[in-house]
Amino acid sequence: AALKLDEIGYQKVRSLRQNGKPVRYHVEDTILEVDLPTPVLPGSRHVFDMEFDAQVPLQIRRTGRMNKEGIDYSMAQWYPKMSEYDYEGWHANPYIAREFYGVWGDYDVKITLDASYVVAATGYLQDPEKIGHGYSPKKAAHKPGSMLTWHFKAPNVHDFVWAADPDYTHDIAKVDDNLELHFFYQHDSLGNWKQLQSYAVDCFKLMNEKYGRYPYKQYSIIQGGDGGMEYPMATLVTSGRSLGALVSVMVHESVHSWFQMLLGNNESKYGWMDEGFTNYAQSEIMAKLMPSPLDPHVRTYAAYRDLVRSGLEEPLTTHADHFETNRAYSIAAYSKGAIFLHQLSYIIGKEAFDVGMKRYFNEWKYKHPNPNDFKRIMEKVSGLELDWYLENWIGTTKTIDYGVGVAGDDNGRARIVISKKGTIPMPLDIRVTYKDGGEQWYYIPLDLMRGEKKERDAIVLSDWGWTYPEYAFTVNRPSGDIRSVEIDPSRRMADLDLSNNRYPAPAQEKALPVLEGAEK
Ligand SMILES: [Zn+2]
Repeated sequence: AALKLDEIGYQKVRSLRQNGKPVRYHVEDTILEVDLPTPVLPGSRHVFDMEFDAQVPLQIRRTGRMNKEGIDYSMAQWYPKMSEYDYEGWHANPYIAREFYGVWGDYDVKITLDASYVVAATGYLQDPEKIGHGYSPKKAAHKPGSMLTWHFKAPNVHDFVWAADPDYTHDIAKVDDNLELHFFYQHDSLGNWKQLQSYAVDCFKLMNEKYGRYPYKQYSIIQGGDGGMEYPMATLVTSGRSLGALVSVMVHESVHSWFQMLLGNNESKYGWMDEGFTNYAQSEIMAKLMPSPLDPHVRTYAAYRDLVRSGLEEPLTTHADHFETNRAYSIAAYSKGAIFLHQLSYIIGKEAFDVGMKRYFNEWKYKHPNPNDFKRIMEKVSGLELDWYLENWIGTTKTIDYGVGVAGDDNGRARIVISKKGTIPMPLDIRVTYKDGGEQWYYIPLDLMRGEKKERDAIVLSDWGWTYPEYAFTVNRPSGDIRSVEIDPSRRMADLDLSNNRYPAPAQEKALPVLEGAEK
């Protein structure tokens, strides 16, 4: 249904001044174009003053009043935001309901509302004793019908969200002496929001340990918006879901505090660096919070393989706004982006990968890292060259497929033949299992990497030059001793066709036992 005039959202800019002088500007759809009388040069200081009127829309998607669950105000994208200018120049993308890329800054925000409202926001409340509403142990009394001004300060963030509702319950749980989690929710008849709190505490503890310390002192999990959306120091999530789904969305949005809110990559150009990295870490954290016998990444790989088969795949270098289909965008960014990391742990080894993820956070937090910045960190911690990996996995829709077979014996030594059927070359882990229960790992390095990973005890073979379609080597036992030969048993490599990754092929193995005849 079409929205009425008093239901649509708008922001109308009334005036803009640079250093006190009015400047000329005009609005082009969602972008305000400004002719600067004084250029903004590196190291110079300028003050911009803007007056704008806005109407809060009835909520359709992320922002607005009266969301489907009855939260009065979910206030995202509620103010005109500066476009980012970086080493590539301006990124003034019209907003078409997809991604953002923002400017770091200190936010100082005052919100005046009827005193009955509870406000949740990015930033620290400046006078909790005066406000009360769960922010201080002491209750504050407010005259019915009076107005209250809330003052928040958020240091070094690139956006500011807030939400308000008179019926919010506001709980606080401590992660440690330097971090408080705040929960704002309306009804909790199932008790999910109370149970969520210890999961959230554990999520932040695990993330701090694995990916680097969350540096702010506060994070708020707020019922509001639609679905789940990440913002600095806060998230808006809907509530009508099972405990498992509530924990999962909380983990996803909280993990964005690392990937995008602190490692502020350009979401439009490199959505996989925030959605993919977040999806990867979410699967790792969920496996710890709610253990299951399934490999936590198995669904991610399945989604990617389905997209490839659909023929809709587009390379990850595609700008988020330019994908032909939503499906190609979301599976590329979320699934192929997550696989980028899990597969990287296969390529450089888990230990170097873990060190690299922490170093990436520590060197790039509060900045705008790009794919090359990430790649360089991983090259430094592993000592391996990774150009080829980004060029292929990010820059193209080429795919990986290897097959393995045993081609008889050479002087009593089984000859293993591997064929490269796919178009992306990879280093290979190969496990040979013998009928007596013994096993031997082999590792075939890829020439393009200029080195070998250190992950486990394996016989290191000579490099596979990436242009060769086949590679053969012998093991020190005859083929009759072999129970199986398997490529990458960890399944971190996103091989498209797994049916030929194991010798004998699973179907052959399942065949009925053969009755061996003998002379009577
Ligand atoms: Zn996300």
